[in-house]
Amino acid sequence: ADLDDLTYQLDRAHVFHSWSAQAALHPLVLAGGSGCRVHDHAGRSYLDFSSQLVNLNIGHQHPKVVAAIVEQAQTLATVAPQHAVRARGEAAKRITARAPDGLNKVFFTNGGADANENAIRMARLHTGRDKVLSTYRSYHGNTGAAVVATGDWRRIPNQYARAHVHFFGPYLYRSEFWSATAEQESERALHHLRRVIEAEGPSSIAAILLETIPGTAGILMPPPGYLAGVRELASKHGIVLILDEVMAGFGRTGDWFAFDAYDVVPDLITFAKGVNSGYVPAGGVIIADHIAADFDDTVFPGGLTYSGHPLAMAAIVAALDAMEEEGIVENAATVGRDHIGPALAGLAEKHEIVGEVRGTGVFWALELVADRETREPVSGAVMARVKSELLARNLLAFTADNRIHVVPPCIVTPAEVAEAVAAYDEVLGLPDLS
Ligand code: PLP
Repeated sequence: ADLDDLTYQLDRAHVFHSWSAQAALHPLVLAGGSGCRVHDHAGRSYLDFSSQLVNLNIGHQHPKVVAAIVEQAQTLATVAPQHAVRARGEAAKRITARAPDGLNKVFFTNGGADANENAIRMARLHTGRDKVLSTYRSYHGNTGAAVVATGDWRRIPNQYARAHVHFFGPYLYRSEFWSATAEQESERALHHLRRVIEAEGPSSIAAILLETIPGTAGILMPPPGYLAGVRELASKHGIVLILDEVMAGFGRTGDWFAFDAYDVVPDLITFAKGVNSGYVPAGGVIIADHIAADFDDTVFPGGLTYSGHPLAMAAIVAALDAMEEEGIVENAATVGRDHIGPALAGLAEKHEIVGEVRGTGVFWALELVADRETREPVSGAVMARVKSELLARNLLAFTADNRIHVVPPCIVTPAEVAEAVAAYDEVLGLPDLS
């Protein structure tokens, strides 16, 4: 408890936190973890159904990943990006092996934002065009072009750059297009995008940047035909299609890539988070051959001191190998289908406050509403209460706007799902919640 207190005091005195007014923060102290659980110094344990920032696909402290980092640290802890190092080639080989045919190279970055930054740069250089289209309901990262591509509130105080245009993606539960069915939503969202492209001028558009399944924005499952339709529009106009798989990729949806479940092949794929579960920061861009070829004899004007950092690369190799050997992606698919999905549907049946349940794999959202008919979202105060009541039941939850995102590590067991669902059930049933 003393160490918990010391850790808390140090943080409050000297650490400046992301996306927050600093004074009101009460960070939870964490000291260690294992699998789907984390604990503080005093030994109080929490079930981690946040995967931290939805990045911990392999769970806490996977021994093979930790050992690989230690071994690489003892051999060559850091190396400049211009040198060839075994772990980097092995990591790139494993990543491209899981990508569609025709995407054979990886540019490594430090995380997701700079992956999108460099993908946008590649698309602009490839097309000689400037504009980037992305959706309002999106998050693409905190650096210059990535934050301006973002659709949510975090874009607005950072919007200095031009040449970014936003459009509405499909979201049947809160349709912008008065749709009654998924088919209508798909058709009408595609019509809207086609009109935005025409009105902006197809020959000025470098890229369409989309999260395959928008994550922080609400785990918005694309309706049938939507992504294929976007692909068709992009191809027709020579626009580069960038799919952001930073949150959805590497097992979270029960597939290696979220787009594996849809009829679409992107030109550029951005990734981070789940590729090595964030044990050492890493991200990157997987590049189609026809774009990579642009830079065979022309300089690519981008780079990072830690591009392909050996500790991050060793963590990728070990994480992807362990995920393969231990069937971790399949586990995400089956636990999602057989346990999480049915249990959350049960919560929706029981509690009026649940407006919609949607998701796949270990990537689910419970949308909480004050009124099922009007679908009015619950207030921020209700969400703060939900989060703290869950924490009081030793559940580390991920909440965004009026939603609980049910996003445990891909290794989650049916028993852990039952434990979490019991906590959600209790909290959603609190008589004085709304
Ligand atoms: N893209 C998506 C879809 C994300 O969810 C995130 C982070 O949450 C990012 C990009 C940015 O990644 P990073 O925070 O590693 O820069």
